[in-house]
Amino acid sequence: GLWHDGAPTPTIFERMSAAAAEHEAVNLGQGFPDRDGPEQLLRLAADAVLRGPNQYAPGAGLPALRQAVAMHRTEHWGVTEDPESEVLVTTGTTEAITATVLAFVEPGEEVITVEPFYDAHAAAIALAGAQHVRVPVSAPDFQPDPERLLAAVTDRTRLLVLNTPHNPTGAVYPPALLRRLIEGCAERGVLVLSDEVYDHLVYDGEHVTLRALDPTGETVLTASSAGKSFAVTGWKVGWLTGAARHVAAVRAVKQYLTFSSGPAYQQAVAAYLPQSGPFLAEQRARLRRQRDLLVDGLRAVGLEPTVPQAGYFVTVDLTPWGTTDAMAAALEWTRSAGVTPVPVSALCASSSETLSSWLRLAFCKEPDVLAEGMQRLARHA
Ligand code: GLN
Repeated sequence: GLWHDGAPTPTIFERMSAAAAEHEAVNLGQGFPDRDGPEQLLRLAADAVLRGPNQYAPGAGLPALRQAVAMHRTEHWGVTEDPESEVLVTTGTTEAITATVLAFVEPGEEVITVEPFYDAHAAAIALAGAQHVRVPVSAPDFQPDPERLLAAVTDRTRLLVLNTPHNPTGAVYPPALLRRLIEGCAERGVLVLSDEVYDHLVYDGEHVTLRALDPTGETVLTASSAGKSFAVTGWKVGWLTGAARHVAAVRAVKQYLTFSSGPAYQQAVAAYLPQSGPFLAEQRARLRRQRDLLVDGLRAVGLEPTVPQAGYFVTVDLTPWGTTDAMAAALEWTRSAGVTPVPVSALCASSSETLSSWLRLAFCKEPDVLAEGMQRLARHA
């Protein structure tokens, strides 16, 4: 449940961060960078706070940011979207997801996701009073079978929530698979919400936004943000794009979730997006090296991690170590080895056997932090 004993149930990420702090473990759990984004962007925000805007932004977001997002998406992903009607600024990708689910899904209706899934997707479905239908993916490539996803559609299905690049697996879904899903959903009157928050962090392969593959523009909504791309996860500057009438419906919900989002951070991101190309290239290269460092470290202790195509995370099966309970292993690693992962099982239904022996480890951490983590693991192994 979302809460128990009169308090919110901590998310798995908060829970593991608290365990890491308690045991002074190297925290490779929660996915946030330990090095803040580019100086230039930070200065833009500082200036924006000092000079304003500091009062409520328009509900749809600052016009300058909507414009910059539309241009950025044209430049990188080749889509043309109207900044006035087809772009909504949100408080991070999380709000884009929750507001979209609440806008379109009625209690008792069904929403399909891949399993494992990001926790906020499941929570949004629960908040809407809807049924969460899960279609598992498996190692080594974690690609979903489009026919299995479409076979899960019933007359109560309202929405398919996809996440590419995918958290926690790092899979990037190829265009042919996505085209088939969009076509199948369009035929069945199902909307597709695509969480693309890791869009810029692809190391092998290429990101394609689902909006570029939607022939009518009426089936797909996409969400992304500045937080992951520019290593400012706490800023919560996100955006949703879709057909004008869909964006209007989500905006109606956003109005009563947060009303509007922080204007100074919006202004900073708006000014930075057009000049962000060089940083994005450096950041990709840096994260790729950190991914490889973590992969090598895990191999050195006899594990066989997957090499993710994208994102912040490596996943690894503990079966070679005779472990079947990832939650127990995550706590044991934290206590005894001084390294904190996240159990992938926590991103699956509790009834599910999917990936029950898998851990997720974040590589969006400085190389010396990753090296220290891997040394501790080697001493423990
Ligand atoms: N997106 C981050 C992760 O997957 C966590 C964000 C959060 O703690 N809610 O680790």
